[in-house]
Amino acid sequence: MIKLKEYDRPFGLYIHFPFCLRKCSYCDFYSIKYTQEFANKYVESLLKEIKIYSKKIPTKKIKTIYLGGGTPGLFTYNQLYRIFDFIFNNFSVSEEGEITLEANPGSLTLEKIKYFKKLGINRLSLGVQSFVEDELKLLGRFHSSKKAREVLLLINRVFDNYNTDLIFAIPGQSMDNWEYSLKQILELKPPHLSLYNLQLEKGTLLYKKVKKGEIKPVSDEVDARMYLKAKKQLGKAGYLHYEISNFARPGFESRHNILYWKYEPYLGLGPAAHSFTGKTRFNNYSNLTPYIKHLENGVLPVDNTVRLDREEMMSEYIILGLRLRKGISFKEFKECFGVDLKEIYYNKITELIEKDLIHIKGDRIQLTEKGLLLGNQVFVEFLPA
Ligand code: SF4
Repeated sequence: MIKLKEYDRPFGLYIHFPFCLRKCSYCDFYSIKYTQEFANKYVESLLKEIKIYSKKIPTKKIKTIYLGGGTPGLFTYNQLYRIFDFIFNNFSVSEEGEITLEANPGSLTLEKIKYFKKLGINRLSLGVQSFVEDELKLLGRFHSSKKAREVLLLINRVFDNYNTDLIFAIPGQSMDNWEYSLKQILELKPPHLSLYNLQLEKGTLLYKKVKKGEIKPVSDEVDARMYLKAKKQLGKAGYLHYEISNFARPGFESRHNILYWKYEPYLGLGPAAHSFTGKTRFNNYSNLTPYIKHLENGVLPVDNTVRLDREEMMSEYIILGLRLRKGISFKEFKECFGVDLKEIYYNKITELIEKDLIHIKGDRIQLTEKGLLLGNQVFVEFLPA
């Protein structure tokens, strides 16, 4: 059972919009084909879900809001208006609260960008992924690089704060092509960039193509070189590398995502959304039908709940915190768990320092440059026994 009373401090709100115009070949997020009819039903359920939580959660303070998906850029003005109206009437959203909406270049127009702003959204996150046509095609994206460029210029006219996602280590991608995409994005000077190496997730079209031998995955060595190339170029261009995959101009770091890495609470709404109270993790059904049905019956659509013990919490705190370049503060760890991080993990920390994967700087423990590339080797050491 979820103890919603554990939400006793300001939290981040995540809203999952489970529709896309079509499925990208690499994507394993929960999303189904967009239809106006189902989107309307989903919004009615979402409002019911917000209403239930507004009555059960003790704190009414929201720090950040993130609309992800799926393709939340497909929300209509009226749908978003109703959702925000409901949230703002039932919760108090911090004045400097970051409100992000994810969008795809293929479904954005200047009119939409302006109405997002009018509704109070103050940050957009655009899934550009690549500026190379063949790569976009392989990824199953339905925008062209020209369209991505045009949309970024439009966003830049309306928003100060926005992110662009790029993907590297795409099967068949050459270093030249990766450099080309980097050059294109740097010319457009977005305030924030997220760079992800392509993960071949089971069940996706791309995974099947690799399994059948139709396409070849990029080697680990090339993957690492692409990452280092990007890191170097972005550093030269003045971006702050503040998390393994994230770069920002000073002051434009994603406040919502930082909340995840700093082990702060968040509430996820919509099908497949995940939540964390600070002590318990729970998630909704990853399917629109049971999601809607539960809410029609006035019941939260929670599929799974995991109550964390102290050891699991410490482990998660470390693994998430080490993703940040500034790492973890020993003092803050002690304030949080009442024990000394250095003492508890003395052997593991010593071993990882010897392998040059982590280092200690003042009050903080951080990944080294080598550790950035081999993060998983570090994280596995802190998993509960
Ligand atoms: S647009 Fe995003 S959520 Fe939708 S299928 Fe593509 S990657 Fe997945």
